[in-house]
Amino acid sequence: MILKEIKYRNYKAKVVKLTRKQASSGNMYGCYYPGTQIIAIQEKLPRLTLLDTMLHEIGHFIADKSSIRLKNLGEEGTVNFVASEFTKVFLQNPKLISFIKKCTRK
Ligand SMILES: [Zn+2]
Repeated sequence: MILKEIKYRNYKAKVVKLTRKQASSGNMYGCYYPGTQIIAIQEKLPRLTLLDTMLHEIGHFIADKSSIRLKNLGEEGTVNFVASEFTKVFLQNPKLISFIKKCTRK
């Protein structure tokens, strides 16, 4: 995993491997643990599944660290929120851009 941590605002989430055993017991590829700010991702996933899972868990990290009530935002509000918060994440994490390029390489 080329990503060891994800920064968002003044927070950092540590990225660790989720074992296959943990993943299959929870029927998931990844997990975000809010208390410890840990993103656990299953190893040896297909590249696009890996990217999908990483972005999904970063989304949970953003939601956890935002006081905003997502379910009250409506479609436009949700889309605005997701776009602007991911823009911040991309700015703060140049390695995430490399990770995306690697996962989407033809
Ligand atoms: Zn989820």
